[in-house]
Amino acid sequence: MEYKAYMCVVCGWIYEEEKGVPEEGIEPGTRWEDIPDTFVCPECGAEKDDFEMIEI
Ligand SMILES: [Zn+2]
Repeated sequence: MEYKAYMCVVCGWIYEEEKGVPEEGIEPGTRWEDIPDTFVCPECGAEKDDFEMIEI
């Protein structure tokens, strides 16, 4: 299984599907598309639309 990563274009915070964000209730391995649209960047509050896929 291949995991992707998504970066907040506003502040540079990175979401890695492999790691999730346990402190935000997002389990490791959660696909980006499975994260609710209400998700916002933990660092700056940017919305999902402000993230873009990156290579890691
Ligand atoms: Zn951000």
